[in-house]
Order: sequence, then C-alpha cells, then structure tokens
Amino acid sequence: MYNVVLEQFQHYYKSLRKEDLSLLHFREREFAFLQFDEQTMIRHMSFENEAEMKDYLTIRPPAHLYYSSAYYQNPQDSNMGRKGWIGADLIFDIDADHIPTECKKNHDTWKCLDCNEGGVGFPPEECPNCKKKRISTNTWVCDECLLVAKKEIFKLIDDYLIPDFGLSEGKIEICFSGHRGYHLHVIDDSYKILNNDGRREIADYVRGLGLKPDLHGFKVISKKDPLLMGPDIYNKGWRGRLAKSVYAHLNKCNSKELKKLYLQEKNEDEEEYRERVLQKISGSPTWWGGLSEAQIKKFYVIALEAIKDMACNIDERVTIDTKRLIRYPNSLHGKSGLRACRISYNDLERFDPLGDAIAFKNGSIKVYVKDVPKIRIGDTEIGPIKEKDRKEIEVPMALGIYMICKGAAKPV
Ligand SMILES: [Zn+2]
Ligand SMILES: [Zn+2]
Repeated sequence: MYNVVLEQFQHYYKSLRKEDLSLLHFREREFAFLQFDEQTMIRHMSFENEAEMKDYLTIRPPAHLYYSSAYYQNPQDSNMGRKGWIGADLIFDIDADHIPTECKKNHDTWKCLDCNEGGVGFPPEECPNCKKKRISTNTWVCDECLLVAKKEIFKLIDDYLIPDFGLSEGKIEICFSGHRGYHLHVIDDSYKILNNDGRREIADYVRGLGLKPDLHGFKVISKKDPLLMGPDIYNKGWRGRLAKSVYAHLNKCNSKELKKLYLQEKNEDEEEYRERVLQKISGSPTWWGGLSEAQIKKFYVIALEAIKDMACNIDERVTIDTKRLIRYPNSLHGKSGLRACRISYNDLERFDPLGDAIAFKNGSIKVYVKDVPKIRIGDTEIGPIKEKDRKEIEVPMALGIYMICKGAAKPV
C-alpha cells in the first residue's frame, strides 16, 4: 500500500482517545488484524486495556481490525476448544452489496473470468454467455443504496427487535461498517448464550422463512360452504404482517391483475370487489368471509409473495455464527479509509455514511484516477471518469484515500 495511506491511518489512530476504543467485555474478546498487502489474518490477540491496543494500532496501523462477537475465558488461546466460550452478542449484518437496487447499474460492473462477457449492475449468478460462475465484480456504493441499507436497519429495529422481541433501544448498538452497510449488535444477557440453532431461528424469523399462513390465523372453516378466517392487521408479529401484506397487495393490484386473481367466478365489478374486501379485512374485528375456496388458496399465495417486502434482508451467516469476527467500532476500513462508527438510534435518520464517517478531514492530495463511476465523499463529487480518460487531479484527502483504497486511483 502507498505510504500516504499508511501515514494517514497511523495519524488517525494516534489521534484517538482511549475512550474511542472502548468496548463492552474488552478483556474477554479476541482481536484480529489484517495488515495492508498481507493475505493472512493475525488472530487470537488480546489486550489488557484500550491504551495498550491504541499503542499497537499506532505502531502498525492495520487495514482491517476485528473483534470477536464472542466472549472467552482465554481469548488469546489459538485452540478454539481451549478458548472457553462464555457467550456472544447477537449480530445482524445488512450490506448494500447484497440488495439489488436500481442504482447498481450506474456504479457496478461485472465480468466473466472465463469468456470475458461483461455488463453493468447487479452481477448475474452465472454468465449469460458461457454459463460459468466465475464472475468478478467492481462494486461501489452511492447515497441511494446506502439509504436502502439504512431502511433495512430501521425495519429490523422498528418492526422486529422492539415490537416482537421486546428489546429496548438501549440494548441495541448500530454501527456503520465503514464501507457498504450496517451492523446491529444486540447486547443482552438473555441472547448471549444462544447456540447456532437458536440464532438460526431468529434469522429465519426476521427473513420470513418457512412461514405457513395456516399457522398464522388463516383457516378455512366449513368445507361445504367455505369461509376464510384470517389474521387481523392489528395482530402482533407475522400474523399482523401477513394480514397487512395481503391488504397492501390487493390495494396495489391493477384491475387486470385483480381480475385474474379474484374475479374468475364472480360477475362483480372488480373495483367494487376490491373495496369490499379491503374494507372487510381492515375492519375491527377483521372479516375475511365471503371468499370461495379457490380464492382462499390465492390469498395464501399472495401472502407468501407479499412477505418478501416485509422480510429483512440480512446476511444470515453473520447472525447464526457464535464466533464471528466483526469490524471494530472507530477503526478504519482498509477498502475505503472511512471510519466504522457507532450511531445511536436517534441519530440514524440524519446519519450520512459518506460524510459523517470521514476520518481524514484535512488537506488535499494529487491522485491519478483510472476509472471511477460518479461518487461522492463529503461535499465533493467526482466522476464518472473512464479508463481511457484517466487523469491527474487534486482532491480532498478523504476522497483521494477512498479512491486509492478502492484501487481506482494512485497518488501522484
Ligand atoms: Zn462467460
Ligand atoms: Zn448505489
């Protein structure tokens, strides 16, 4: 890595106060580092206190700094069996990279490593030309996809963790990862001893996996003259969400879709029909009656389809893992030079990841830019600059380091 990056990282770690590195259960955590230009992670580290860690970071600033979600009796022991697992924070990871957004076609490209076929936007699972799966990507983030990731965090907190799990804001810690998304840590003793299976249940719950409408209040009573009972939109948890999802779906169907879905055997005008059903299922108590059996089956299909909008787009592998290494709050991300920062729930709405997470606030740098889409860091926008138009420019330090860390520029 270029000296200017190492110097900036070092300068940043030197400027930290030891409180900036504070962490619950500090002594019981394992720490891990990845140095610039190295492939192997240095693991199984432990520190007496934050000051000792700060000294280490200042002498040899890492590209990436992680800590274990788990607490151990012997965090420095390299044998996992002897580490003495005590418990682990419950963690959710929401990454803009995994969410297919429209903006990706403005800033992401992919290329097949076998036949060189390429394109823009969200990468296909297999190459449309040669059908092989070795696909390389060049991905960036913009305000739009980071906003989608932020909305997912709000959804996770406001629709699941607080109402369904009964957690309070004080038990939830939100962190911007310093690059493409957010982490959410649940710090609560009743969750810390959960094993993989328990964590998987939670992950499946917020992803809406394995939901069976008939276990959530949808029930046909009387075979002869079928009558559908359904959940109430005021019900808590998935019952209410399923009822709301059917309501929302019915509401947004155009009349052609509505005709296809509900009216094959009725002569009723579809708008009248829509009004009647919407009124019934949003009433209190809800009334789902008056639907034929064929229509009832369709309600199941709609409910299962509509939950996709309500489910949370988390990376389930992170939540299930009881020994995950997670980026350290207030450390720098080596692929962006941005700071991984803690954000309180109240500040999340106004938080600007591409502005508030800037670590290098002073100075400017001359860089040779090879290829960037339109990007923004702080108040400065740049690009798109194509490979053939590559050029030398002077930009604010944070933007320069960002492009260098992304491999799109080099210092002049
Ligand atoms: Zn190919
Ligand atoms: Zn984007």
